[in-house]
Amino acid sequence: MEPLIITCAPVGGEVMPDQTPHLPVTPQQLGKTAAAIRAAGASIIHVHCRNDDGSNTHDVARFAQAYGEIRSASDLIVQFSSGGAIGMSPQERSAPLSLKPEMATLTCGSVNFGDDIFENSFPIMRGILAAMKTYDIRPELEIFDKGHIANARRLAKEGVLSLPQHVDFVLGVPGGMEATVENLCQLVADLPPGCTWTVAGIGRMQLHLALVAIAMGGHVRVGLEDNLYYSKGELATNEALVARVARIAKEAGRPVATPEQARTILGLGAMRRPQGDAIGAA
Ligand code: ZN
Repeated sequence: MEPLIITCAPVGGEVMPDQTPHLPVTPQQLGKTAAAIRAAGASIIHVHCRNDDGSNTHDVARFAQAYGEIRSASDLIVQFSSGGAIGMSPQERSAPLSLKPEMATLTCGSVNFGDDIFENSFPIMRGILAAMKTYDIRPELEIFDKGHIANARRLAKEGVLSLPQHVDFVLGVPGGMEATVENLCQLVADLPPGCTWTVAGIGRMQLHLALVAIAMGGHVRVGLEDNLYYSKGELATNEALVARVARIAKEAGRPVATPEQARTILGLGAMRRPQGDAIGAA
């Protein structure tokens, strides 16, 4: 089997600092987190940004600072969220892509998200894909429901998305597909040929679905964006969640990918650094 790519989503857009003291809020904290999760076995960092008070932001200068801090602390593959937080406009969600990270997420359809709606209409998806094309960014397709795979096929048929791509199954969001082994197997079976995949289980299912992905030859996403707890009642750190998956994978005879190996598996080019104007924007 291929080496295991561990993605860490250390902060997300919804969890607030009053829920855990371990959330990296500032660009400096994201840099420190990058070094710690790299040492623990991660090869991709999935990036959201916060203001100093913990509120959400998709401000380009803030992303530029975070990208700079992460890159000076590690060789991780840097993947920006284009999902942002519920209620952000599509323009706001796409703006940081101008910093040319190696990867960015594309959520492949709308989904209920608790009492809210995470809106990803076809025009929104086409707009985000156009920005990714402009800045030569590889999408990671976020799949919250089985119909989202059909949406990706439709975008490919239109010619705005090339397939195969790397896919992330986000399972267990209240409103999306439930985090079960049966659902994961159905989704994997429906993938377009040649796609690689990661699973991000929400809450306590993060570990369960990671175990299944390690055995199936898929890849794993962990982190506080998706799960706050290491075990019942015990708050997690990002690095502890990564280290546990790396440890289990090694026990199972599955080596853990370095960022360079992950770039090869995903067909990415050489590691990117923040551009001069990006640093200037910080
Ligand atoms: Zn995210």
